[in-house]
Amino acid sequence: MNRPLVIKFGGTSVGSGAAFLRAASIAAEAARNRPVAVVVSAMAGTTDALLGLARTSSVPAREGSQDHLLHTLSERHSGAARKAVPARLLSGVEDRIRNIIERLAEAANATLEDPAARRDEIGSFGERLSAEILADAIAGFGTPAAVAPGDPIATDGRFGDAGVLAVETRRRAQKYLHPLLNEGTVAVIPGYFGRGPDGAVTTLGRGGSDLSATVIGRALGAEEVWILSDVDGVLDADPRLIPDAALIPRLSYREAGQFAALGAEVLHPRTTAPAAEARIEVRVASTFNPGSLGTRISDREGGPGVRSVALRRGLSLTHVSPETAGDGVFCCLGADAEGIRALVDGAGVAAVVCVGAPTDGDLISGLRSLHNANIRPLYAGNTSTGLLFAVAESKAEVALRALHSALTPAGAPAEMEEVA
Ligand code: ASP
Ligand code: MG
Repeated sequence: MNRPLVIKFGGTSVGSGAAFLRAASIAAEAARNRPVAVVVSAMAGTTDALLGLARTSSVPAREGSQDHLLHTLSERHSGAARKAVPARLLSGVEDRIRNIIERLAEAANATLEDPAARRDEIGSFGERLSAEILADAIAGFGTPAAVAPGDPIATDGRFGDAGVLAVETRRRAQKYLHPLLNEGTVAVIPGYFGRGPDGAVTTLGRGGSDLSATVIGRALGAEEVWILSDVDGVLDADPRLIPDAALIPRLSYREAGQFAALGAEVLHPRTTAPAAEARIEVRVASTFNPGSLGTRISDREGGPGVRSVALRRGLSLTHVSPETAGDGVFCCLGADAEGIRALVDGAGVAAVVCVGAPTDGDLISGLRSLHNANIRPLYAGNTSTGLLFAVAESKAEVALRALHSALTPAGAPAEMEEVA
């Protein structure tokens, strides 16, 4: 068997009947050349609604609003199925949707044991529903597809933010996914959750379907993982703050992990680790813009330079002692006679962190750009999070813009040549 491709579709990529169709056509097309496993998120907005449901207990006064929510979910998913699934498969998928909604109603009405367990159990239903629709939408293109049984991701059982057990997940993938892939069927896997050692449903944290995709990729020894959503790839800054933020064509696992940890919303922060471990290339691209290659993330380091800039607000610049330094420390800047100088959670200070392989030249250009913008940095230097410029919080966005245009390849006057 060729090495499989894992494709992950985000919530907007399955946000409507038309979106399901587009996603299904991408998966069916890819499956013509190699085995494909698909990891799918819940339809956009569904997980929020489910977590709201999990918070309400089944007291009679709430039953009306619970029924209403279940009805809305059922209508939304059946409506999407009617648009995305051909007539010959429709009654089957509608039955399965009804069945899942019934199980959800049971879970919602169950007497409350552990609220965290309830939250994860109920929260998983959005992916269960979208997986059923996507599988039959793919089948509608003439490509065999089925929802994988057995909730293949094995977790450590921690609710809300579970860790993944790689060896056990590989064993479960052998058992539940390989048979499908071997017979040429696209295996559709609901993202976001797995099962702990005692079988309890445990989620990987909000946005966790990205992580599901690389975890499944590692378990299958995949050739590539595609993370497809409504953005063209990883941008070099937050586009809400920097309107001309540019697509980054290539990132190393290290850079992508650092950038995600700083809050770049396009990837769940733990996503790249399983891919890096198994050396699987990750492609982040848009379902809605098939022509764009997106961002490719691999073990290849791109040479010196800043790839992206991130802003972190709500900090204070202070000294901490080795005994008390711990939680709340964002970044250590070094030590002097007064102790460890650190940026800690607080107020008044913001940090612009430049991710990549910054040089001393970048430090100097960055300082020059701040000077030209009339900003006096409170600190500037290379740190474990990246090249960091601390400024007064009131100057945060001006500093971010100045550093973005001075230091990133797209912002800088001389465009760096891309090595093919
Ligand atoms: N549906 C889950 C969430 O909204 C997981 C995901 O979309 O990645 O957080
Ligand atoms: Mg997401």
